[in-house]
Amino acid sequence: MIPSSFDYIAAKNLDEAISFLAKHKDDAKILAGGHSLLPAMKLRLMQPKVLIDLGRIRDLSYIKEEGGQIRIGAMTTHFQLEISDVLRRSCPLLPETASHLGDMQVRNKGTIGGSLAHSDPAADWPAAILALDAEIVATSAKGDRVIKSTDFFIEMLTTSLQPGEILREIRIPAGEGKIAQAYVKVRHPASGFAVVGVAVNLSIDGGKCQSAGIGITGVSPKAYRAAKVESALKGNSLDAKTLSTASAHATDGIDVNSDLYASAEYLKQLATVYTRRALETAVGRVK
Ligand SMILES: Cc1cc2nc3c(=O)[nH]c(=O)nc-3n(C[C@H](O)[C@H](O)[C@H](O)COP(=O)(O)OP(=O)(O)OC[C@H]3O[C@@H](n4cnc5c(N)ncnc54)[C@H](O)[C@@H]3O)c2cc1C
Repeated sequence: MIPSSFDYIAAKNLDEAISFLAKHKDDAKILAGGHSLLPAMKLRLMQPKVLIDLGRIRDLSYIKEEGGQIRIGAMTTHFQLEISDVLRRSCPLLPETASHLGDMQVRNKGTIGGSLAHSDPAADWPAAILALDAEIVATSAKGDRVIKSTDFFIEMLTTSLQPGEILREIRIPAGEGKIAQAYVKVRHPASGFAVVGVAVNLSIDGGKCQSAGIGITGVSPKAYRAAKVESALKGNSLDAKTLSTASAHATDGIDVNSDLYASAEYLKQLATVYTRRALETAVGRVK
């Protein structure tokens, strides 16, 4: 399929991208890695009149530790996250999540900012970002706005980014104490996207769970934090019985999808089983 015609602008820096976006408003779309936007344009699901490419803005691509946080530029590719030594040392959940994402071509071009802004209900990053209690920095002509990850995903393909805003940075709080993390996923055999993906981020002290972040993707119209699983873990010893009991709450209060590929009952069961596996994997790594 061929997309409808559009103008292309390669922004030289973030200020230029912001002013182009302010000028062209709803006619414009930001282009990052293009691995979600271009397929949507070819199918004519999206028909922007102007593409504003962030690809030449090198200072939107970084991973650094600063002010007690890990800061990740929006244009950092999945592959850069997968191989980062900083992340392997201080937040291994992110490289592990990246390694599950698409194939090498997708990981080389696709960006974390593009994936979060696209908010595909079966994307991998939203689960990890929620589990890590990250913040998302949006920037516009009015300046920066910091959005909690739990407020960022509104529904399928919709985020709380406002017209004129560009996702600039993702901020991950530094973990405290002993950290147990894991990402497990059931890959859709055709697309590679998550049928179910579960990200776990626990802090453990004296053998007990001090805090828990559980992000689940693929199951519902948007990724979510499994609050009931988290509360069943907090303050408890992380033995097999606790992990199994907590996992049974994986879809509590969630509007579970149902389609030709997977019924709601099947997805509920997968979410429960894979939440337990993710918890067992994470806890097993710190024993
Ligand atoms: C074959 C294939 C397999 C894939 N498999 C997976 C998978 O297994 N798991 C998975 O999670 N994803 C998968 N993806 C999607 C891939 O991760 C995309 O790279 C990602 O979803 C979008 O990132 P991008 O940088 O390519 O963004 P683009 O496609 O350039 O943009 C996506 C959307 O976000 C907007 N946008 C981009 N950057 C910004 C920004 N900084 N601020 C505001 N808006 C912005 C764009 O305007 C557009 O609407 C797959 C894609 C393909 C083609």
